[in-house]
Amino acid sequence: MTAAPRLAELFPATTDGPAATMAFGERLAAYLGPGDVVALFGDLGAGKTHLAKGVCRAFGVAPETVNSPTFTLVNEYAGAAFPIYHFDAYRIRHLDEFFEMGYEEYFFGEALCLIEWPERIEPLLPAHTLRLHLRHAGDTHRQLVLAPV
Ligand code: ADP
Ligand code: MG
Repeated sequence: MTAAPRLAELFPATTDGPAATMAFGERLAAYLGPGDVVALFGDLGAGKTHLAKGVCRAFGVAPETVNSPTFTLVNEYAGAAFPIYHFDAYRIRHLDEFFEMGYEEYFFGEALCLIEWPERIEPLLPAHTLRLHLRHAGDTHRQLVLAPV
C-alpha cells in the first residue's frame, strides 16, 4: 500500500513550458478545495496565470477563461462545483481597496482563492495561505517553490 503523496512532495519543481506549468497546477489542485487560499508570488511572466489556469481546469473551468484580473481585481469562474476567485493585486495602491471589496467574504468563505501579486496585500493574507513562489529559470523554464510555513 502506498501512502498518498503530500503536497510538499510536489516541490520544488521545474517546468519546461507554459503547458507544463498548467499541468503542475492540475496536479496541485488535487490538494486544494473550498476554503483554501493560494498566494502566487513571482515577477511578471513567471507563470502565475498559467498555474492558475491549470488549477481551474482541474475543477472544470475552461482555462481560456482564466486570465489575470488586472483591472477588475477579482474574477470568478463558471464551471467548478464551488466558487473560485482569482485575484490580481498588482494595481492595489492601498489596502483600503481590498477592505472595500469585502475581502474577508472571499478569503474566509467556502471558496478557493488564487492570488497574483499577493505581496501587495501581505497583511491581509490569512494564516492558512499556501505560499508558492514562481521563478524564471531561463526562457522556457520556471522553478516552483513552496514557501516554508
Ligand atoms: P504571470 O501571470 O506570472 O505574469 P503568465 O502565466 O501570464 O505569467 O505568463 C507566463 C509567460 O511566460 C507566458 O508568455 C508563457 O508563454 C511564458 N512561459 C515560458 N515558459 C514558461 C513556463 N515554464 N511556465 C509558464 N509560462 C512560461
Ligand atoms: Mg498573471
